[in-house]
Amino acid sequence: MGLRTVRKKGIGNRVARLMAVAVILAVVVVAGLISVYDANVAAQQKRAAVEGTAYVFASAVADHVATRDASAIRTVLRSLDRVPGVISATVHGADGKAIATLGQKALLTSDVIVTDPSFFDMMSKGIVPVSVDIIKGGAVQGTLVLTTDISDLRQDFFQTMMAVVAASLLAAAFAMLLLTPLLRKIVDPIQKLTRSVQDLRVSQNYAVTLPRASDDETGILVENFNGLLHDIRDRDQSLQQLAYFDTLTGLPNRAAFQRDLAERLAGLQQDGSQVAAILLDIDGFRALNNAFGLAAGDAILQHVGSILTEQSPPGALVARLGGDEFGILVPDRLDGEAAMATLAHIHATFYQPINVNGMELHLTLSAGATLAPVHAPTVSDALRFMDLAANAARKQGAGRSAFFRQEMDETLRKETELAQRLRSAIDNNELTLHFQPQQQLSSWQIVGFEALVRWNHPTLGTVSPALFIPIAERSGFVAAIGDWVLREACAQARTWLDETGRPYVVAVNVSPAQILQSGFVRRVEAALADARLPGELLCLELTESIFLGRSLGGVRSILDELSQLGVNLALDDFGTGFSSLAYLSQLPFNKLKIDRSFVTASQTSVKRTEILRSIVQMAHSLEMTVVAEGAETQAELQLLHDLGADQVQGFVVSKPVPAPQALALAEHLNSAAA
Ligand code: C2E
Ligand code: MG
Ligand code: MG
Repeated sequence: MGLRTVRKKGIGNRVARLMAVAVILAVVVVAGLISVYDANVAAQQKRAAVEGTAYVFASAVADHVATRDASAIRTVLRSLDRVPGVISATVHGADGKAIATLGQKALLTSDVIVTDPSFFDMMSKGIVPVSVDIIKGGAVQGTLVLTTDISDLRQDFFQTMMAVVAASLLAAAFAMLLLTPLLRKIVDPIQKLTRSVQDLRVSQNYAVTLPRASDDETGILVENFNGLLHDIRDRDQSLQQLAYFDTLTGLPNRAAFQRDLAERLAGLQQDGSQVAAILLDIDGFRALNNAFGLAAGDAILQHVGSILTEQSPPGALVARLGGDEFGILVPDRLDGEAAMATLAHIHATFYQPINVNGMELHLTLSAGATLAPVHAPTVSDALRFMDLAANAARKQGAGRSAFFRQEMDETLRKETELAQRLRSAIDNNELTLHFQPQQQLSSWQIVGFEALVRWNHPTLGTVSPALFIPIAERSGFVAAIGDWVLREACAQARTWLDETGRPYVVAVNVSPAQILQSGFVRRVEAALADARLPGELLCLELTESIFLGRSLGGVRSILDELSQLGVNLALDDFGTGFSSLAYLSQLPFNKLKIDRSFVTASQTSVKRTEILRSIVQMAHSLEMTVVAEGAETQAELQLLHDLGADQVQGFVVSKPVPAPQALALAEHLNSAAA
């Protein structure tokens, strides 16, 4: 509805018109009544005067009426000519018939005997009839009817009426003049309200208050309207809170993050100013949630949210983007220094364990960052690139940060494609196991094999587990692959036992996501039972990443249950993680696998040799068997032997090979050594 229509049909206009009509009506009615009364009085006065004359003439003609002498009567009546206004006279006999008539012919027919004519009769005909009895000797002889012209009165009456109408119009105009300010007082606030409501609909800006001009109903209306605006503002605020804030942490949410990023991008100066968009997520958060429950998970998220807020520079925005993902926007320059400094602070803070519901947890965060607009020109680019960078960081291990680089885009596309194909790998029998022998250094006998999964894709060829296991971990179906490997390896170990009678131990790699899934211990138990394999002939290889984001106690209880099954537990890739002795001594590991990086070229570096020696000693003091991985040369083999390592697994003995080959080699070596 436009403003024009409001005015035309406006309340002010309508009230004004109504008032004008009312005033005109009132003046017309009152003035009409007065003039009718006035004219009536004048007519009656005239009538009374004529009545006097009539009585005089009635007695003058009484004798002639008795004798019915018409000419004598006419003679008498003729002198009525001198009486002003009388225009006709008729004498009726006692029988009512006219005896003599004088005056205007036209009037004669209506010269009936009228005793009391109405005002409207007199006015409409313009004449007043007067009838008086003609009496002689006490008896009524007849009636004299005189008719008087009152057209002058009639003219007066209409003139008065015209004057009244003119006066009433004048009065109405005058009244309007006087009433306008009063009307304004009533109508203005209402019109203002109307306009405000219309403006509100357009601007959606409810942060206004209308001034209250009066204490009357319109004032109350304005006050109530202001109250309504206040309610709308309140509701708006709580809607904003819901739409743009995360209820758990109280931080801005993803929508707010995107909006803020868009605003920051739009407001950037042309001086090379940048916004760093940073994505952070908690390493191993899903497993943490599974192990300790949602309440602990919530407490961790709140804790992380407040640490991020504390560690971010002024002018930064910290948001919870969903799940365990947080986002930070930092004003930056082209060198990305502000983002790097922020991330350094954050990582440093998490070196300290955090206390959640009485538990000490070591958390790490993986982070990805991109600079907008230099690398990411739009909001959606920035969101995608920080995500890609975070993925790249996660691949490097826990607690790492990465900046977006163009190549990451392609990597992700390939990875997604690979994950799709991997899902059907088990069903399509594309997975197989290879086995790598483990040699006892004291006896040179083969005592066991590590089972290593292989994926033979019909078109992609052989895909390395180093590539597809991390993808399976990120896509959440590593447990399915792990389960298949476990059952397959147990069955193989049983076959060897049956075929050779030798207790070859089979080692199976277990991913953190797999071991922390509920029912893992029961599944190991079932795999052993189904294969009829003694627990001692199975070794589970775990890496230090199972401790990421979990309490020591939680992991220990699972490992304790596993070792109660008689299963061996090996700590894989030792030396690449945080390699904490404090952890190791509290956990039931009975094997330590030294990572290949310490073994390769160990003989050329004195320092490395010393590290190896102390790892061996330390492991032995904890009563652990030491397995050295990745020995490729005889020299390395000899050194490991000299350092007192218990077993070796490396290309120098054999590459991972299919089961029959692995067994053939083992049997060959064992019988030679025997
Ligand atoms: P890992 O458990 O440390 O396995 C040892 C890896 O080192 C194997 O690589 C093996 O082929 C390689 N290796 C052994 N000796 C030598 C050597 O002398 N020189 C060199 N250059 N390499 C050697 P592979 O088979 O590619 O496996 C890589 C990683 O994939 C494994 O590291 C393990 O973490 C993971 N993986 C393999 N199979 C499985 C599985 O069934 N489940 C899970 N969760 N992870 C697996
Ligand atoms: Mg391994
Ligand atoms: Mg290893």
